Amino acid sequence: MDKLDPSAVPPDVRDLCARLREKGKKAYVVGGCVRDMIRGATAADWDVTTDAQPEELMTIFPRAIPTGIAHGTVTVVKNKQHYEVTTFRGESAYSDGRHPDSVTFVNDIEHDLARRDFTVNAIALDPIDGHVIDPYGGQRDLAAKVIRAVGVAKERFDEDGLRVLRAARFVAQLEFSLDPETARAIPACIDTFKRVSMERVRDEWTKTMKAKSPSRAFEVMREGGILTVVCPELLLGVGMEQNKYHSFDVWGHAMACVDACGGDPILRIAALFHDVGKPATRAFSDKTNDYTFYEHERVGAEIVFPICTRLRFSNEERARIQDLVRYHLFHYSDDWTDAAVRRWVKRVGKDRIEDLYLLNEADVRAKGKDALSAPDLAALSALKVHVEKVLVAGAALSTRDLCINGRDLISELHVKPGPALGELLDALLEVVLSDPTQNERATLLALAADLHAKKAGSS
Ligand code: ATP
Ligand code: MG
Repeated sequence: MDKLDPSAVPPDVRDLCARLREKGKKAYVVGGCVRDMIRGATAADWDVTTDAQPEELMTIFPRAIPTGIAHGTVTVVKNKQHYEVTTFRGESAYSDGRHPDSVTFVNDIEHDLARRDFTVNAIALDPIDGHVIDPYGGQRDLAAKVIRAVGVAKERFDEDGLRVLRAARFVAQLEFSLDPETARAIPACIDTFKRVSMERVRDEWTKTMKAKSPSRAFEVMREGGILTVVCPELLLGVGMEQNKYHSFDVWGHAMACVDACGGDPILRIAALFHDVGKPATRAFSDKTNDYTFYEHERVGAEIVFPICTRLRFSNEERARIQDLVRYHLFHYSDDWTDAAVRRWVKRVGKDRIEDLYLLNEADVRAKGKDALSAPDLAALSALKVHVEKVLVAGAALSTRDLCINGRDLISELHVKPGPALGELLDALLEVVLSDPTQNERATLLALAADLHAKKAGSS
C-alpha cells in the first residue's frame, strides 16, 4: 500500500507536521504509531521524524522541551499531549552495544528507517497526503504477523543489546511470530545482550506482562539464551516433570500461570516465579509413587528475593512478589473455622488477599487438568465468601486492631519497651483471633498481666 487514510492521525500531530512543511521541511509520523494504525490498534504515542535539525526545531517550536537534543529529539506539547519530534538519524557504530558512538543526522527518511529495529517499526507515513514509505516490507510483515529485523539481524542485535528483548516483547504484545533468521541471530548476540542494564530488562519484562500471553516472549527468551543470562533459576524447571495433578513440566506450568493470571504486571511477575522453589524441593515419594514438592513456597520465597534485587524491582514490589510466592499455596475446605480464616488473613496480610485470589485461580487453571480444577475453583469461591464474612464482622486481624496498645502495657503493667512488648501483643492477638469477644480493654489487660507475670516468673 502506497497510501493510507491519514485521518486516523490526531489533528494535533497533523498540524505539527504541517507547520514543519510550511518551513520547507519534511515530516512523517513513524514507528510504533504507524504500525499500530495499520493494525487497527490504538497507538500508545505518536512520534514524528523530520529533516529539520534540532536547533531548527527549537526555532520552529520555541516552547518545545529539548528532551534529547543531542540525539536530535525534542518534545512538542500540544493540548497537554507530548509528541517526540526527532531529526532523521543514521546508524553509526555501537562499540558498547548500548549507545551509538556518535549521532549522525541524515537527509532522507529511508536512511532513518534503516536504523530502526524491526520492519514493522520502520514504516513512515506522511500525515498530510497519506503517502507511505516502507522500504523494508513492514506492511508485508504486518500482514504475515512477523517480527523481522531490518537488514542483517545479527548486525542489528550486535549494535544494541536491548533489541533482542524488544523482539521477544513484540512477539507477545502483537501476537506475532519471530522470523526464523531473526530468531537464529539472538543466541549469536548474547554477549551484547549481557551489557544491557537490569533496569532495562525489568522495564521490558514489565511491558511484556501487559500482553495477553506473555509466555510467547518468555519462550523466545528461553530459546535465545536470554534467560540463561537474566534468570537461570527459571530454566531449572524446563523439562522437570511434576505429578498427577499437573499436565505440564514446572516451566510450562509457570508459563501457563502467567498467561492465565489477571491483574497488573507485578502480579504476573509473581505468577512467573510462584513455583521457583520446586526444582530445589522435588522428591520422589514411594508411598504415592509420585513427585512431591514440600515447602516449595517457602524455599521459593527465599529464591525469588535475590532475583527481584537483581532485576531492580523496588523494595515494595519485591516484598509483594515475595509474599505472593510464599503464600500462593492454600487449600481451603469447609472445615476451616472463622478463626482459621482470620489466621489465614493475618498470615498473608489483608493487602495481599486480592492478589492471592487471582494468583490461585491462575495456578489452578495452569495445571492443565480441567477435571481437577472445578473443585479447586469452588474452594476458592468459598474462601472468598468466608473471608468477606470475617472481614465484615470487623474482628481484629493485626495487633493494631487490638483494644489496647504498647503504650497501655507500658503505663499499666510497667512492661519495658522492646521485643517483650511485641511478643506480648502477638500473644494477645493469638487469643483474639481464636475468640474475638476477648478484644476488650479490661479482658486484655488482665490477660496481659497474667502472661507478663508468667514470663517474669520463668526468666
Ligand atoms: P510501543 O510504544 O508500542 O512499545 P514502539 O515501536 O512505538 O512500541 P518505542 O520505544 O516507542 O517503541 O520506539 C519508537 C520507534 O523507535 C520504534 O517503533 C522503532 O522504530 C524505534 N526504536 C525504538 N527503540 C529502538 C531500538 N532499540 N533500536 C532501533 N530502533 C528503535
Ligand atoms: Mg511508541
